Amino acid sequence: MTAPTEFDHGWAGSRRLLRLLRDLMKAGGSSQERLDRVVELIAQDMVAEVCSIYAMRGGEVLELFASMGLKASAVHKTRLQVNEGLVGLIAAQARPVALADAQSHPNFAYRPETGEEVYHSLMGVPIMRSGRVQGVLVVQNRTQRSYGEEEVEALETVAMVLAELFAGDRLLERADDSAGSDLMPARLSGIALNQGLAVGLAVPHERGIVITQVVGEDPEAERQRLDAALGEMRAALDAMLARQEVARAGEHREVLETYRMFADDRGWLTRMHDAVRGGLTAEASVQKVQNETRARMSAIKDPYLRARLADLDDLGNRLLHHLLGLEEKKREDLPENTVLIAHDLGPAELLDYDQTRLRAVVLEQGSPTSHVAIVARALQIPMIGRCEGITTQAGEGEDIIVDGETGQVLLRPSHSVRAGFEDSIAHKERQQAAYRADRELPAVTRDGAPITLMINAGLMIDLTHLDEAGAEGIGLYRTEVPFMIRDSFPGVETQADIYSRILDHAGEKPVAFRTLDVGGDKLLPYWRGGHEDNPAMGWRAIRIGLDRPALLRQQLRALLRAAAGRSLSVMFPMISDVAEFEAARALLQREIDRQQTLDQRPPAEIKVGTMLEVPALALQLPQLLPRCDFLSLGSNDLVQFLFAADRTNPRLARRYDSLAPAVLSLVRDIARHCDDHGVPLTVCGEMAGQPLEALALLGCGVRRLSMAPSFVGPVKTMVRSLELDALKDAINQLLTLPDHSIREKLRSYAVERTIAI
Ligand code: PEP
Ligand code: MG
Repeated sequence: MTAPTEFDHGWAGSRRLLRLLRDLMKAGGSSQERLDRVVELIAQDMVAEVCSIYAMRGGEVLELFASMGLKASAVHKTRLQVNEGLVGLIAAQARPVALADAQSHPNFAYRPETGEEVYHSLMGVPIMRSGRVQGVLVVQNRTQRSYGEEEVEALETVAMVLAELFAGDRLLERADDSAGSDLMPARLSGIALNQGLAVGLAVPHERGIVITQVVGEDPEAERQRLDAALGEMRAALDAMLARQEVARAGEHREVLETYRMFADDRGWLTRMHDAVRGGLTAEASVQKVQNETRARMSAIKDPYLRARLADLDDLGNRLLHHLLGLEEKKREDLPENTVLIAHDLGPAELLDYDQTRLRAVVLEQGSPTSHVAIVARALQIPMIGRCEGITTQAGEGEDIIVDGETGQVLLRPSHSVRAGFEDSIAHKERQQAAYRADRELPAVTRDGAPITLMINAGLMIDLTHLDEAGAEGIGLYRTEVPFMIRDSFPGVETQADIYSRILDHAGEKPVAFRTLDVGGDKLLPYWRGGHEDNPAMGWRAIRIGLDRPALLRQQLRALLRAAAGRSLSVMFPMISDVAEFEAARALLQREIDRQQTLDQRPPAEIKVGTMLEVPALALQLPQLLPRCDFLSLGSNDLVQFLFAADRTNPRLARRYDSLAPAVLSLVRDIARHCDDHGVPLTVCGEMAGQPLEALALLGCGVRRLSMAPSFVGPVKTMVRSLELDALKDAINQLLTLPDHSIREKLRSYAVERTIAI
């Protein structure tokens, strides 16, 4: 073999190296001998003085497994934590790094045993397989060499080939790999994307996709295979979209249609074709582009772009299934209690799994408005997202517990923990059955006071729970949610269509539409409001609506149109004083007048209310209440502003309690004013859905509660076990105390009287 005389890492160069590597792996010899040959070959081809391979061990340590150029004595000695040093950084971010002056990088970690101080430049890429980082491949040079983009690409291609070659022969494993931290129980945290508990076996999403042929013999034949598979995939997607459970209307449908469009994305297709030209087989090309997509995803914060990249990742997997003929096998050999583990999933990918075997899903990525979360909610599958480390730490077939209430994942739990969770699941199932049985029963206290229980909604899917939960209406419809899952502002037509479908679905039951509440922690992918130091108290909700009246008027127009001949309830978020309410109302009036001039059919009745989330408004109730038809208390925001404590800051999560006398005294005051003016008051923050908090609210005079659908059952059971008159007296007494919170005293009160909290 002759070393290249100049940097030749175009297509021809990389193809030659790939063939050499493949031949070398076939040639035999011990694992170490072969690894040593591999690094030598790559160093020569890349004209580098050093080439090293680090292998991931136990999901958290990178061990130097082979090196040409670093001291031989450092092999199997030098170890770096994920995120430690440049090698650790490459593994943590699953992205390449190329530096002319590596030693001046803040992450550079000097390891004297390697003798690497004489090498100045460094280029490294992750060795990835099935979405997991298996190791890191590094080349180094003495001079301050600037590695070009093509060279990084070439090294990535080599890493990809190595991953497959190594996997076949288990070269990156050592005899003692099954010992130690791998088998310890572990607890990981994420955020709950869909509620529910599950106990099952971990199944990595990419399971079963093993690529044996990486290097293509004939680029033209590989191109044809790729194109044929693309054609098959498109046809299969069309068939899936026509499937019964998918075909029904709702956001999941729109999400899937947008996804289908991505199968024709030019950039994606070009990158795969480029990789085929570079000497990879069709399937290896798909996987290479997929690895790059994942690496980009891990660095992108923008929720819109992330969702798009996740869609491409999903399409990549589908394509692999077509190329490798895996379509049919996937469903059959899933365990009965599958807990799916993935970096991220596309919406359609979730639908591929047999729903009867799928107990839960855990993702490294994902967000409440990600497409896969929307589909999971439609299918009622517990889901946890942003669970860092799950793909590297959960081994296939290992026991796993998913707690979709707290966002926790337990890996390899002990027998007793597992048994405890199984009991909880059985208990919850019994409880759910009891709630279902009570669904038709009225929410009336033991002393005969009727309480109105409603649900909060934002997606069409939530509406399917309206009857199921036995709720009387939708107390809060968050209109920002349909805005958040789209690619651009929905126009009047689209909005009217959404609102009208919601009213159709709700039938006779009332719906309180809240106008757009964006800003703060609710960002629209296509709306850049500019940086704010304090967004929760910044330019959000009605403040944007009043400053950009066209936006608000369009929404009001859509609502009026959707409610033609029906009853319409509208409320405004984050109103801080009466003047703001009047200004918002005036915009509504202009739209009502406009509708009249256009001779369009108006709603049968219009009720106008406001959210009460800002304490200042609570001090203007005598002026406000004669002007509005209903009031909705948003306890999430009201409590954060009352205590000046950011509701999203975990350090403050336990500092103040919503059952503090200050909060409840204010609620009692508001309820009294509303009673005096005959204005209905609903509480629609999280407090309304917690039985103990709901109990306190009822004691303060609230009679209407709106909550996430799954809480209606427990709150109704609490209501039906309660003597309201006695409770009011008890609350009045408790609110005279100087306590930080009345939680424990109220709990004892409830327990003594067998109130079901
Ligand atoms: C609230 O603030 O309590 C509320 C219901 O509004 P959101 O949670 O949507 O801000
Ligand atoms: Mg709010």
